[in-house]
Amino acid sequence: MEAGAVQFPRAVTRKIMVGDVPVGGDSPITVQSMTTTKTADVDGTLQQIYALAAAGADIVRCTCNEPEAAEGLARIVPRSPVPIVADIHHNYRRALEALEAGVHCLRLNPGNIRKPDQIKAVASEAKDRGVPIRIGVNGGSLDPALYEKYGGRVTPEAMVESALQEIAYFEEVDFDLIKISVKASNVPLMIEAYRQLSEVTDHPLHLGVTEAGPLPAGLVKSTAGIATLLAEGIGDTIRFSLTTDPVEEARMGRVLLESFGLRERKNVDLIACPSCGRAEVDVYKIAEDAQAAFADRQLPLQVAVMGCVVNGPGEARDADIGIAAGNKRGHLFIKGTNVAVVPEDEMVDTLVEWAEYITEHGVEAAMVRAQATRDVARKAAEEDRQRNLDDRGDDANDSEQVVELLRKSR
Ligand code: SF4
Repeated sequence: MEAGAVQFPRAVTRKIMVGDVPVGGDSPITVQSMTTTKTADVDGTLQQIYALAAAGADIVRCTCNEPEAAEGLARIVPRSPVPIVADIHHNYRRALEALEAGVHCLRLNPGNIRKPDQIKAVASEAKDRGVPIRIGVNGGSLDPALYEKYGGRVTPEAMVESALQEIAYFEEVDFDLIKISVKASNVPLMIEAYRQLSEVTDHPLHLGVTEAGPLPAGLVKSTAGIATLLAEGIGDTIRFSLTTDPVEEARMGRVLLESFGLRERKNVDLIACPSCGRAEVDVYKIAEDAQAAFADRQLPLQVAVMGCVVNGPGEARDADIGIAAGNKRGHLFIKGTNVAVVPEDEMVDTLVEWAEYITEHGVEAAMVRAQATRDVARKAAEEDRQRNLDDRGDDANDSEQVVELLRKSR
């Protein structure tokens, strides 16, 4: 089967517009992140918004927790490269001010603003302006009445009921530009809450594991929750809530969607072998060097770093380009075909240079470029392959010797 041919079915949801970015329906799943600056610090916040957009964020949220923040939003929104969502905490007046400031979406937490007349006032104003609202239910700040109703526990049912209550208030003023999140820091709870929510609503869903924490566990938890739901077809927009630079959140959200085939590849997908007794080079180091070299280059390619030429080009034949180590030299291959041979210390630079060439001119042009070196490259690869096999045999990891020792020790 062709790599990337598998597609997950997607739950049918309505489409809303957050500024010029569609969310839900058949639109691409989007990446969101949130600034960590004071929103009143206009230049600092804009700087972070630009960094987030460059890292892959389609939509950025800023807190609107004080009157100065709303004023900041009025200055930020016209200069932002991506739509801005205002995060509203306890005071509904900040929501009205954020709308006046021109934000593209609001996020309300039903656990924090609970007076129906205030919720309806915000929804009416948002309706007049055509601005959507995210109902952001959070397991940690659930409405106390619902917490009591469900036996003093946060349950998926309680979180879904909180979202539905809020939708009912919105419906009273005929407002339906809604997206919903039911985040929790507990992964199974979050997954089940979204599953139940997806059964009872067709509003677009914003996925996230809240307060997932620092790397690496925070990334694992976020991925476990978000990826599970995406594989079930649930979710229209995602956010990784990590205790780290939000630029990493945006980058990792983007990587997740690209690895699922849910967004077009924008960045290098670096694959590398795990190394073994046959490796001719420090694979970890070369892979790290390659990762650093490609970090700031937006090349939509799969690139492979392989420890030996015996298995490398074949195992990574689906990669657009790769390099496999030989006898103190690197064997460059394109779609599994050896095209050039370079000294070991030039492996990463060569990989980058050819990856840029392929991005600009395509694989076919790169093969034409390699015409003069292909024969030499194939012969050199065969020499190194044979030498590796002669030196290390079929059992490069000496497994059979270990098995023999184990048998003798019985
Ligand atoms: S056989 Fe070669 S490509 Fe495969 S893990 Fe070992 S060194 Fe890497």
